[in-house]
Amino acid sequence: MRMPVQPQCYWLSSMLFAAWVCSANGFSRAQEELDAIVVGAGIAGLSAASEMGAAGLRVTVIDIASVFGGHAAMSQGGLAIVDTPQQRAQGIEDSPELAKRDFRTWGDDPDGAWVDYYCDHSRRDIYDWLVGLGVKFESALPAPGNSVDRTHQPIGRGLGLVTPIYRKCLDHPNVRFLWNTRAVKLIVRQQNYHPIEQNTIDWIIVCSHKPVISAM
Ligand SMILES: Cc1cc2nc3c(=O)[nH]c(=O)nc-3n(C[C@H](O)[C@H](O)[C@H](O)COP(=O)(O)OP(=O)(O)OC[C@H]3O[C@@H](n4cnc5c(N)ncnc54)[C@H](O)[C@@H]3O)c2cc1C
Repeated sequence: MRMPVQPQCYWLSSMLFAAWVCSANGFSRAQEELDAIVVGAGIAGLSAASEMGAAGLRVTVIDIASVFGGHAAMSQGGLAIVDTPQQRAQGIEDSPELAKRDFRTWGDDPDGAWVDYYCDHSRRDIYDWLVGLGVKFESALPAPGNSVDRTHQPIGRGLGLVTPIYRKCLDHPNVRFLWNTRAVKLIVRQQNYHPIEQNTIDWIIVCSHKPVISAM
C-alpha cells in the first residue's frame, strides 16, 4: 500500500538539504586553510597525519571507509624491529648488522639503501615512537628469514597498534577527518586553488597546490 506523502516531509527534506549545503560550504571555506591532504586513514596515512598535526600543520585526512585503520585494523600488527628493549628483556641479542644480513639474504631484490636505513632506524622511528604513543608489545616472535626473534606483537594485535596513532591524531584539532569520502582524482595546481574542488556525499576531487600524501 502506498503511503501518502505528508507536506511536513518536504519541509524536513528541504531543511536537511539546506543544512547539508551549509555544512558543505563551511567545509570548503575551512579547507582553504589546509597545509596538506592525506588520502587514506590506514596506518600509513594516520602516521603521517599525526606527525604533521604535531608539527602544527593543518591537515585533512580523507577515507572512503567510515572507520579508521584500513588493513591494519584487521591485521596481526606484527612488526619487524631491530634491537629493542622487548628483545633484550627476552634475552634476544639483535643488531642492525645482523638484521641487514637477514633482510639482504631473505628479501626478494632488496633495496640496499632502504634496508640499511630501516635497520639503523627501526628501533627509534618505529618502536620508540609507538611506545611513546601508548602501544604495548607483548613479545618478540620468530618469523621466516629472521635469524633471531624480532617480530614484535602488539597487545591487541592490529587494533592495538593503530588505535593509539589515531588517538594521537584526535589530540590535534588541526587534523580533521572526512569519512565515507572517496578521492577520485588528483589535480596538482601551482596557484592557490581551493584544495578540494568538489565535494558531494561520497566522492571528492583533490585539487591542490599543497602537499598531498597518497596512503591508500
Ligand atoms: C589479515 C591481515 C593480517 C596482516 N598482518 C600483518 C602483520 O602482522 N604485519 C604487517 O606488517 N602487516 C600485516 N598485514 C598487512 C598490513 O596490515 C598492511 O600492509 C598495512 O595495514 C597497509 O597500511 P596502509 O596504510 O599502507 O594501507 P591500507 O591499510 O590499505 O589503508 C588505505 C586506506 O585508504 C583508504 N582508501 C583506499 N582508496 C581510497 C580512495 N580512493 N579514497 C579515499 N580513501 C581510500 C582505505 O579505506 C584505507 O583506509 C596484514 C594484513 C591483513 C589483511
